[in-house]
Amino acid sequence: MRNTAYIALSLAILVWLLLYNDYRYGRFTPPLDSTAIGSREAASTSPVRFRPQYPAVLLFILDGATRDALHDPSLCPEITSRWSRFGLRYDDARAMLPSVSAPNYFSILSGAPPSLHGIVNNESRSRSDRHAPTVFQSIRDAGLDSGVVGFDWYKELFGGVTDYTPAECCEKDDPAEVAGAVSAMIRHAYLPFFTVAHFLSPDNAAHATGSNKSERYLGSIKTIDGLLGGIFRLLDRAYPGALVIIASDHGMNVDGNHGGLDEASMRVPLYLLAPSLPHANVSRTVYHAAIAPTVAAVAGASLPALAAVSPLVEALDDRGTESSIRERILAAFRFMHPIIPAPKFAAPEDQGRRDARLTAAIIGRPERVKETLLLYQRLGFSLALLFLAAMAMRRRPPGTITVLLVNGIAVASAGVAMRVVTSAHVHAAAVSLFAVGIFIAAGLCVALLRRSPLYLHLRTPGAIFELFSLLLLETAIIAACFLPLFTFAPDENIFGVRFFALALWSPAIILLVIKLATAFESRGFLLAGAATMPPSGGGNDRPA
Ligand SMILES: [Zn+2]
Repeated sequence: MRNTAYIALSLAILVWLLLYNDYRYGRFTPPLDSTAIGSREAASTSPVRFRPQYPAVLLFILDGATRDALHDPSLCPEITSRWSRFGLRYDDARAMLPSVSAPNYFSILSGAPPSLHGIVNNESRSRSDRHAPTVFQSIRDAGLDSGVVGFDWYKELFGGVTDYTPAECCEKDDPAEVAGAVSAMIRHAYLPFFTVAHFLSPDNAAHATGSNKSERYLGSIKTIDGLLGGIFRLLDRAYPGALVIIASDHGMNVDGNHGGLDEASMRVPLYLLAPSLPHANVSRTVYHAAIAPTVAAVAGASLPALAAVSPLVEALDDRGTESSIRERILAAFRFMHPIIPAPKFAAPEDQGRRDARLTAAIIGRPERVKETLLLYQRLGFSLALLFLAAMAMRRRPPGTITVLLVNGIAVASAGVAMRVVTSAHVHAAAVSLFAVGIFIAAGLCVALLRRSPLYLHLRTPGAIFELFSLLLLETAIIAACFLPLFTFAPDENIFGVRFFALALWSPAIILLVIKLATAFESRGFLLAGAATMPPSGGGNDRPA
């Protein structure tokens, strides 16, 4: 009875630990995410449901792709031929200053300039740097979903408010991985209403070999164009009428540099392609930051509160929505121009509450405090697990605990060390090496364990409780070892989490090795120490 209660309590704590931490691969959910920004409740209880103008919106960002490259039919036959059938091409789209990556990612998705949203260089990507709500929040408030396929900066910048699918083109520089993830979502009908997919390879190529006549740079754009062609065909079958937006975060000069006010850095490509749009070339000057308010407007959502540019009106359906769009545009400018009276539009949420919420989100930013709380929360979980495991194991021979401690700490510190030492480029090799290492460590520990009476317990079929204790103790030890990595480098989780997940297999491997050794022993392959086994341990079922 005590054992049952103990297992139930431990399981409850484990479930809590797993569900309310961001260890889950592929989806970054801060456990204490600010409720100030989100309003799922408001969205779900809203009686007003606007029917979005497009069944889905996809934004493809080709990092550092130049306007001229994306206008070239020989380089981008898929994009240009789709545009020749329908859709808008903006001849004079501009990036924001500084014309570097992170500030422009955030401008594209918040509608705000870097001076307003706070991401002013590639280094400032933490929560405390961000001052503007993004289009993902607008989409969520409207009761729709969104997702990102991108490298880890996207998780850092937007992870808390949208589903995040890692695409580690940083380490592998592989646009096929990004396109593959998007294609899979389309094929399995998992496509959210708004999806952002980011291709990093043109930027990497240009920094390495320049942009002008660089085969690597032009080749990467050509490859992405081909992959987009495949996505277009899938999309036409599964989501006919979807809006595809193609843009880059900044331009690129011939030397493969960007960052300044020069024309080559500031000028970016911008396509909006959908069958319902006319084929047109738009010559007026626009900012790519207009993408965020445009996506919000076509979703029927409120514009991101600090959006400083208006939606691209050519992409908006004007059936009966003109006045509400105008009101939303006014709402977007209200924070910057408080003299404009607050528009009264039929938002699902009370205007006063929304103001209080956004103000709290922008000024208060309680995440720092919550991150500190998270640290203690994790520490508390790990200590509680260790304590429970120690209680369960206290009547076991002392040698057993030593073996498990040695194995848990060896396996976990190897994982942490590998994460610290290995660069992203050798990450895959490090993961494989670590997996092999875990097998060797587990084998060595079984050899140690064979002198312990627990070994005999583990061999009997009814030893569920011991198996569970072993698993729990090892989990607790490994979690405690990884705690500093997850706490002090939370943005590195996506790499560290693989080593953590691998390390958790260590106790299972120990059990597997014990079971295999037992099976072999029962057929005469006796290993050292087998003499300590009871007579009933093996040989009875051997064929005569
Ligand atoms: Zn960039």
